[in-house]
Amino acid sequence: MVCKDASTGIELWIKREDEIHPVVSGNKFRKLKYNLLQAQKEGKTKLLTFGGAYSNHIAATAKAARLSGLQSIGIIRGDELAKNFSTVLQENSTLKFAHLNGMQFYFETRENYQNKYASSQLEKYKNLFGEVFVIPEGGTNALAIQGCKEILSNEDSKFDVICSSAGTGGTVAGLIEAASNHQEVIAFSALKGNFLKDEIKKWTSKTNWQLNTDFHLGGYAKVSEELIQFINSFYTTYQIPLDPIYTGKMLFGLFQLIKSGYFSENTRILAIHTGGLQGVESMNKKLQSQNKEIITFK
Ligand SMILES: *Cc1c(COP(=O)(O)O)cnc(C)c1O
Repeated sequence: MVCKDASTGIELWIKREDEIHPVVSGNKFRKLKYNLLQAQKEGKTKLLTFGGAYSNHIAATAKAARLSGLQSIGIIRGDELAKNFSTVLQENSTLKFAHLNGMQFYFETRENYQNKYASSQLEKYKNLFGEVFVIPEGGTNALAIQGCKEILSNEDSKFDVICSSAGTGGTVAGLIEAASNHQEVIAFSALKGNFLKDEIKKWTSKTNWQLNTDFHLGGYAKVSEELIQFINSFYTTYQIPLDPIYTGKMLFGLFQLIKSGYFSENTRILAIHTGGLQGVESMNKKLQSQNKEIITFK
């Protein structure tokens, strides 16, 4: 348990999925697990996946592939990155890490990236890299959801509410599928817009969940001074590091909901720490360049 509110009796617990592995952490490990097994079953030796230059999924795939003896190929959004690749490798800790773990990159124009699943694009990748096992951007597919169901264990049925950050919605879909009927899952969207609702519905027909879109702070990877201060004080108080893109926003939102009286007395809340800490370094570089307060875990 992380904390209990003295006046309302509301309890907050955090499941430390970030501690599964330093980099293949949290939900990205869960999402990759059955994909790696399937790739091996099909006799594929190469994984191919997609992501932005700071993607947790890219970092996790590179590491997981290496650990499983597979090769990995990352289709990265932004062909401008290819032009100064050596500088990018020095400055971008995500791509540097993936590169050191043997990931081969293909930098794609934004336009082509938008159409990455078009058959002509997939054909192109096949010609370039041969037979590959394709994992979608963010890692969400049926095998990923199967893996995310394993985040919850039997003893977690004692909780009333389960909270998680959501990007593509795959993780939350797994949680919804695994949750008991008396439990409610709250997905905190890391992105602007309401499209996630439909994405989640693609993977589950259960209805004991809701999407909260009030705490994306302007959109994906957008941060505020208040959020950074929250992450820093959260660490000082509870010694739990949060990332600024997913888990930080979820807990920032969750604390506001608790304060506003959103939950009834004695509600037991389980928040999933989905990892993402590899992204802190890049965010700090950006904040530093803007002369803003950075994230510190000390
Ligand atoms: C990718 C990611 C998410 C979002 O997971 P989805 O399955 O895409 O919704 C949440 N938290 C962290 C730390 C992530 O890296």
